Parts: sequence; structure tokens; C-alpha cells
Amino acid sequence: LFAGETEFVKGVVAMSGLPEADRMEVCFAGRSNVGKSTLINALTGRKGLARASNTPGRTQEINYFTAGDDLYLVDLPGYGYANAPLSVVEKWQRLLKQYLSGRQTLRRAFVLIDGRHGVKQVDEEIMSLLDSAAVTFQCVLTKADKVKEKDRQKVLDVTRAALAKHPAAYPEILLTSSEKGDGIPTLRSIIATLE
Ligand code: GDP
Repeated sequence: LFAGETEFVKGVVAMSGLPEADRMEVCFAGRSNVGKSTLINALTGRKGLARASNTPGRTQEINYFTAGDDLYLVDLPGYGYANAPLSVVEKWQRLLKQYLSGRQTLRRAFVLIDGRHGVKQVDEEIMSLLDSAAVTFQCVLTKADKVKEKDRQKVLDVTRAALAKHPAAYPEILLTSSEKGDGIPTLRSIIATLE
């Protein structure tokens, strides 16, 4: 799946702009700075690829990347920045809801949580949105290299407790480090086994 060309396809601002639903896709959500771009780059092995979605103006877009010919990786930026005007936030949330409940080819969402900080209120909100849309989501704890060995079990336990409240949560939690590569092959193979 990840063997072919990886490319930025487009940034989508309305449902009408979505690419044709001709292959499966997975999406990635997370607060800004959680390490989402870095993770997408690590998954595809292309540094700088997902930077596009971090540039100003792209932060309220649904950003599509190809990973080979049979998969879209979908970057859902845009939550957890309190500075945006309410009208912008509302427009974004509307699009996000429409996307999550309307995209037939969406197989799974990955909700990225900073391994050092745990689940925050904005994360809870996106998880509730995923529950409502009945999109199975899997939690990815990022920056594992920054989490001390002795704290890992606790982070996992606390996260597991938070997930227990969400019917759409997939029970397995992933611990990743894009820096060291931990968990990246596992995440790749999870995506590869989705149908
Ligand atoms: P995004 O806003 O979620 O796309 O976050 P970025 O991918 O831009 O990452 C935010 C910051 O966290 C950057 O300074 C990254 O270098 C850093 N970062 C991302 N992943 C890791 C990781 O696995 N380990 C460590 N130590 N830092 C990371």
C-alpha cells in the first residue's frame, strides 16, 4: 500500500471538493503540534510532504495525500486552536461532520494524542464527533520517545479509561515515535489490513 508514489492531492474546503471515492481512506486528527505532519511523513517515508497542511490557509482544509494507488491518507487539521474566529470554527466543524458521516470510503480515523499530555477536552470533542458519525477510531499516542519508560503504563491506562467512554473507539492504543520510528511499522500494517 505504501510502496507507490505519495503525493499531496488537494486541500478540500467543501464536500463538493472531495476527490472521487474510488479507494479506501484513513484520516488523522489531532491538536496542532501533536506531531501529525511528522507522523504522516514517517508513514510514507517522505519528509516535508505533510508540511503543506501546516501552512497558513491550509489549516481549515481536509488535506488529501495518496499513499500508492489504493489509499488516501487524509489530514484533518483544524482543532485546538482557540484563536480562530467563531464563524471559521463553525464552518470547519460543519465540514468535518459532513465529511465524517458522509464519506463511504473512510475506513478508520486515527486520533493523535501527545503521549506527554494525554487526552484533552478538544480530543474528547473529536472523539464524540466520531462516535456520532460511527467512524471507528484508534488512538495514537505520539512522541513516545519523550515519555519516560516508567510513565508509559500510566499514560496507557489513563488513555484507555478515556476511550472506554467512546463507543467508536478501537481498544488497541498505539504508542509511536516518528523520531525513533517506534510503532510506525505497526501503524502501517494496521492500515494495510483495513478493507
Ligand atoms: P502537527 O502540528 O501536529 O502537524 O505537528 P508537527 O508534526 O509539525 O510536530 C510538532 C513538533 O513536534 C515538531 O517540532 C516536531 O519535530 C515534533 N515531533 C513530532 N513528532 C515527534 C516525535 O515522535 N518525537 C519527538 N520528540 N518530537 C516530535
